[in-house]
Amino acid sequence: MSSNRLQTRARLSEVRYEIRGELARRARDLESQGRTLIKLNIGNPGAFGFRAPEHLQRAITEGISGTDPYTHQQGLPAAREAIAAFHRDRGTDVTADQVFIGNGVSELIDLSLRALLNPGDEVLLPSPDYPLWSASTILNDGRPVYYTCAPENAFMPDPAGIEALITPRTRAIVLINPNNPTGATYPRALLEQIVDIAARHGLLLMCDEIYDSILYDGATFQPLAPLAGDVPCLSFGGLSKVHRACGWRVGWAVLSGDPARTGDFHHAMDLLGALRLCSNVPGQLAIHAALHGADTISALCAPGGRLHAARQAVIEGVAASAHMQLVAPGGSMFAFPAVVGAAAVGFDDHAFALELLETEDVLVVPGSSFNVVYRNHFRITLLPEAAQLAEVFRRIERVLDRSAER
Ligand code: PLP
Repeated sequence: MSSNRLQTRARLSEVRYEIRGELARRARDLESQGRTLIKLNIGNPGAFGFRAPEHLQRAITEGISGTDPYTHQQGLPAAREAIAAFHRDRGTDVTADQVFIGNGVSELIDLSLRALLNPGDEVLLPSPDYPLWSASTILNDGRPVYYTCAPENAFMPDPAGIEALITPRTRAIVLINPNNPTGATYPRALLEQIVDIAARHGLLLMCDEIYDSILYDGATFQPLAPLAGDVPCLSFGGLSKVHRACGWRVGWAVLSGDPARTGDFHHAMDLLGALRLCSNVPGQLAIHAALHGADTISALCAPGGRLHAARQAVIEGVAASAHMQLVAPGGSMFAFPAVVGAAAVGFDDHAFALELLETEDVLVVPGSSFNVVYRNHFRITLLPEAAQLAEVFRRIERVLDRSAER
């Protein structure tokens, strides 16, 4: 009898992506039994009735004829130029040649870590992180090393803490700004300190800025690349969130910094991009319209806008609770509340999320899915209507009341 050689990759056992994991599978089971759930696990604007702006849709429908060939591996020249011009407007002197377009930021996170890492190399990742960063580091034979963005410090990175983690194996510092899951937005002075660390230690800066224009109540966004100057910096952005077109799978990475230092990495990115031929071409047609056409996100985030109202509902839901605290998100489409007090005694975020799903038909993501050591947080998306979020917080409160009594 032949032996079974269908073994999967060993390091997959270290990889977790609980946003679509066990709880999401259980939710599908419940739905197939006829239950109606409120699923707040994925930052998927389309699932909550948002549509990509019409001028982006038009750019695709009007341009789709002739998009059948493969493009250059880095993307359509006109789309890359639109991205480069967007970055130049923000103060980074880049050309279309420094832009890599991919099937979402997701593909480019993986591709760039594959271009960078040798076995055992270390990547400094935020804790909490967006777990694809950890997964891609692991699957590209690297080692995630977490720097803490502590709730007591409004989820800000601590530059001294980052520097203390650097070893001869460290290759890059990853920043997610505005942050998923916390919604923290990083001030310029803090980013300058992190640039200084990267400069002194010869590290690549990787800045996931996919939520760059989703900002509330006066929060500001400072892009990293203009501060980085000659320091090698890869800045990620895309259409999925700000432009509510996540199904189109369009993202980009812009490589800035001293060309003498970035040349080999550029070549590696180009080669890996060539191996996958090119990214989805129709989606690329919308990039110019997205970056140089009408702003459609600010109104959603401003008072009277739907995302603003949703964030307000979360803030009020937490404020009315006897069991929760929140660092109000300055940006992104998420909030990361903490369970505190009597309800937090013996609290387990997984057990809580499961109970909320089973008894109250609400799906959230346990905080520990984002690579934190504490077990008293959960992530919730700001995409539903405010009234639905108010209802969600009433249901959460019932579960936490029970936790407090146990
Ligand atoms: N980076 C962050 C921080 C995200 O939250 C997400 C999606 O939720 C992504 C990257 C992936 O985005 P894309 O749809 O461009 O692959």
